[in-house]
Amino acid sequence: MRKVTRLGVMGGTFDPLHHGHLVTAEEALWQFHLDEVVFVPTGQPWMKADREVSPAEHRYLMTVIATASNPHFSVSRIEVDREGPTYAVDTLRELRQQRAGDVELFFITGADAMLEILQWKDPEEVLEQAHFIAATRPGYDIARFEKEAPTSHPRVSVMDIPALAISSSDIRRRVRDGEPIRYLVPEGVNTYIRKFHLYRGGG
Ligand code: ATP
Ligand code: MG
Repeated sequence: MRKVTRLGVMGGTFDPLHHGHLVTAEEALWQFHLDEVVFVPTGQPWMKADREVSPAEHRYLMTVIATASNPHFSVSRIEVDREGPTYAVDTLRELRQQRAGDVELFFITGADAMLEILQWKDPEEVLEQAHFIAATRPGYDIARFEKEAPTSHPRVSVMDIPALAISSSDIRRRVRDGEPIRYLVPEGVNTYIRKFHLYRGGG
């Protein structure tokens, strides 16, 4: 019998990666019997959004540091190395090509990110490429999610996770305001942030 690899894909800006991300990935690994979860930090946004995003290389390295101790976690440079805008469909296709043999893809997101994805041009195309695992996330209106998301879609599953009200924006603000971030992010990520003086500026 041919072995099918069940591959979880966790995309994000990871500016910085925090324990909410890690708990979500670990829970998906467990609940959906995945073989591996690959973290995919986004490339540098080609359009400047409402804030300055840290250089991709910093975000990539913090993701590596945070996931290094878990044998089922890996990090992909696909989006970091790609020029121009990145689309989830391209990333999923490339990940599938990189792995020899049969791969079943599981796209892991928080409920907030899932709502965003549904506003994309071709959500159906992405749903063809991967199963969707939408994790509950504190602060996001789950009632709205249930109403707007096609949770009845056979390719979408809602996953309850131990709630961690942690966000990268709050961590950046805490660093800027001199508040502690210890225990919100892995120790190595905290050390990295201090070493490179990240999130100190006005932005
Ligand atoms: P920011 O505050 O800058 O938006 P973030 O904390 O939302 O950062 P992202 O890199 O934007 O982190 O998120 C990557 C993915 O992880 C998204 O799918 C997001 O929904 C999910 N996620 C982030 N934080 C949590 C959390 N505490 N619990 C569950 N899922 C989370
Ligand atoms: Mg976010």
